[in-house]
Amino acid sequence: MIRTSTVRHRREAFRNELIGPTLAHAATQSRFYQEHLGPAAFKVKTESDLLSIPTVTKRILRSQPLDRLLTSAETPHVVQHTSGTTDVPFRVFRGRAEVEFIRQFFDGQFDPFGANGVRLLSLQPSYHGEGIPIPVATRYSSVNVMDEASGEQDIDQLLRESSSAVSGPVVITGLFHHVRYLTAKLLQRGCDLARLRVAGLFVTGQHVSARWKRILEETWGVRVVPRFSMTEGFGGAIYCEFCRSYHFDHFVVPEILAPFSDEPVVSGIGILHLTSLYPFVQLMPFIRYRTNDIVEILSTPCSERFGLSVRLLGRWDHAAILENRRGHYRVITPSPIFELLENFPVINTGDPYGNINGTVLVGVGNPCFRLEVEQSRPFRLLIKIELRVLPWLFSEVCDQIRAVVLEGLARELPWLPSELGEDSLQVEVRFFPPGSLGAFEPGAIPEHSSDEAG
Ligand SMILES: [Zn+2]
Repeated sequence: MIRTSTVRHRREAFRNELIGPTLAHAATQSRFYQEHLGPAAFKVKTESDLLSIPTVTKRILRSQPLDRLLTSAETPHVVQHTSGTTDVPFRVFRGRAEVEFIRQFFDGQFDPFGANGVRLLSLQPSYHGEGIPIPVATRYSSVNVMDEASGEQDIDQLLRESSSAVSGPVVITGLFHHVRYLTAKLLQRGCDLARLRVAGLFVTGQHVSARWKRILEETWGVRVVPRFSMTEGFGGAIYCEFCRSYHFDHFVVPEILAPFSDEPVVSGIGILHLTSLYPFVQLMPFIRYRTNDIVEILSTPCSERFGLSVRLLGRWDHAAILENRRGHYRVITPSPIFELLENFPVINTGDPYGNINGTVLVGVGNPCFRLEVEQSRPFRLLIKIELRVLPWLFSEVCDQIRAVVLEGLARELPWLPSELGEDSLQVEVRFFPPGSLGAFEPGAIPEHSSDEAG
């Protein structure tokens, strides 16, 4: 018991040590943050003091001229982009000092699977810009499997790297949909992935479904470690196999806040906000940044040891929000529905990179669906699902999917029938032919709103 609480206290002490300098740096060096945070910035000494300063959204940051937002006029050392899967693309700038600090901080201590001499192979898509080089035992190389022009050569290189007996095991890291794409490409070439010298897969980005985690583990014969991360700021959370939740890095401060009021949430669901700590992030600060990711706070056997434990439930932009007459609201989150729909191959998965060199890859994308709410009385929740086929020719399959979705929703959301009092809810599942729901971005359920309230 003494030992576990020490881990948590050490983590808190680390954050509290850096939180004051983080706020002071932003408020003195960035004109935007100076005005946005005001004098309260200089009174922040612990994580809990963050409650006294305002949150910030992507929309607010994007509206700022760079010379007001950034903390220095230096030429950015690294430029990264959010892919725009859930919003308009957004550029993130990093300075030389922070990249150098990160390199030194991790030097010699990055050993993700406890394997000696492990090499990291990163699936780095060009549209995300450059990566931050984190040194590992031997070397770090970027493989751009999503680039049509170089993709095939990159896959050859990856096969060479992971087949060589001399160079030791490889850990592959990449966004969820890139790892799925790579897996499909290799299987298509007839590779036995379990024979490659791959020690593990780090699957980064957003929600990793249980089904795909299992498929990847079975296909590659290795551990798959989902990691929540984002381009904005530095640091995220790692999936814990033991308690089946995500725990946050010690170099980032997570807060779970109510979606409309920004009040702290102590149980149930809320919106994840992150503060990136100085000196890990310097040129472009992210302070109480609303990620728009919906998370559920869990009480797990690890909570005492690691602090916050959460489950990822998908993007706020993709959720259905029900508001009743008394101003109460309920959220129907996309990830549980995503997990249910993934089990039906007849559901269109968009497969945005599916047609490369004339070869179509089926099933590596995300199920195409949208949640829509009609704020009528009673509420009507529409779950629109796109099939690969004409739905009216497959009514039995549609009935089957509808039953699974309704049953799954009732299980996931026990409050569904009664919680909103007089405002009861009707759920309707509707099916559409291929292409009806519009363009689908990689790695995301298509957006129908760009709500960044708060
Ligand atoms: Zn855990």
